[in-house]
Amino acid sequence: MKKQNKGLNTICTHVGQLEDKEFKGAISPLYMGTAYAFEDIDVKRYPRYFNTPNQVALAKKIAALEHAEAALIFGSGMAAISTSLLAFLKAGDHIVLQKIIYGGTYNLVVEEFEKFGISYSFTDGFKSDDFESKIQENTKVIYIETPSNPLLNITDLKAVADLSKKHGIVSMIDNTFASPVNQNPIDFGIDIVIHSATKYMGGHSDICAGAVTSTEEYMKRIFHLAKNFGGSLSDYTVWLLERSIKTMGIRVKAQNGNAQRMADYLYGHKDISAVYYPGLPSHPDHDIARKQMNGFGGMLSFELNTDFNASKFQKSLKLIKPAMSLAGVESTVLSPTLTSHSLLSAEERKRQGIADGLIRFSVGIEETEDLIADIEQALEIVRKERELAV
Ligand code: PLP
Repeated sequence: MKKQNKGLNTICTHVGQLEDKEFKGAISPLYMGTAYAFEDIDVKRYPRYFNTPNQVALAKKIAALEHAEAALIFGSGMAAISTSLLAFLKAGDHIVLQKIIYGGTYNLVVEEFEKFGISYSFTDGFKSDDFESKIQENTKVIYIETPSNPLLNITDLKAVADLSKKHGIVSMIDNTFASPVNQNPIDFGIDIVIHSATKYMGGHSDICAGAVTSTEEYMKRIFHLAKNFGGSLSDYTVWLLERSIKTMGIRVKAQNGNAQRMADYLYGHKDISAVYYPGLPSHPDHDIARKQMNGFGGMLSFELNTDFNASKFQKSLKLIKPAMSLAGVESTVLSPTLTSHSLLSAEERKRQGIADGLIRFSVGIEETEDLIADIEQALEIVRKERELAV
């Protein structure tokens, strides 16, 4: 663990920033070069070696945010995830993955791993015993995601970290939903922390990027594969991402507050049958979330009453956009049944607890009164349609 002696927003704004020696500008200069001198210097710089000035500067900021020794920035969250997994898995190895993980990661595992001779098991639940029961002699990695998508299940970070250490297994987490503002898994003993930086780090729905943080030793292993796989991020996007992260602390804290207010409003609403948010005392893992999170995050899910038309509800929203991605400053909703989980059978969705009326809500930074008004007018339209149908 490498704790900075600076506070969150100071790290966001200053750590890793490049100095503009020539003009004394307040922001990092952008170096777009792909050709750097190679004679009489120690470091051979090249974008695909992840070591251009802007890449190195941003990596320092992200490592500091996750209390890690080192970081690498990738062209997408999936580039970060696939490179990290394959850095620790080879033919004959086995991985234990949490029951519910991001669909892209699930597809990577079930569609590609067999080709590499890597076997896998998904847990039956989120508890430490669920992970331990799937461990085999050849298990090399335990992979988790907490809070999970879309039902905001919570996995106990310390329990998984302890279990991994007991069995000499590398632990990895996709920390995208929490962001480094709300959760720092390395503090609980998790080895490798991965982000889709497309989400809270970017925060404005205009950047696709990924990041991995860990110890120097583990990052050397990931880097070795990263330069061969070539999933680096262009310097211009690196520079934009650095700018975005400057406001990540204040954005995410505002989103935490808004999400809590929206969860409180939706909980007990006559048209809503369930609300999933770790910040609600009714959440089954609220106590674990309190223990390991600095804030409960900007993501929540809720279920409309079964006789409500979920598709019509989303189309009737005026301010909140139905959209596939998440974590932007603008609020968005998504129906897992119609989008992210549409390829799963109805039975599998049921097994995962995903009802047809489930709406995943990425809460932005707007005024909550406006978000509530938007939801109320959309519910009114759906309510009227249902009354006419009766
Ligand atoms: N992890 C989570 C939790 C995600 O939601 C996503 C994308 O939606 C990813 C990983 C993949 O990230 P990217 O789209 O940046 O490759």
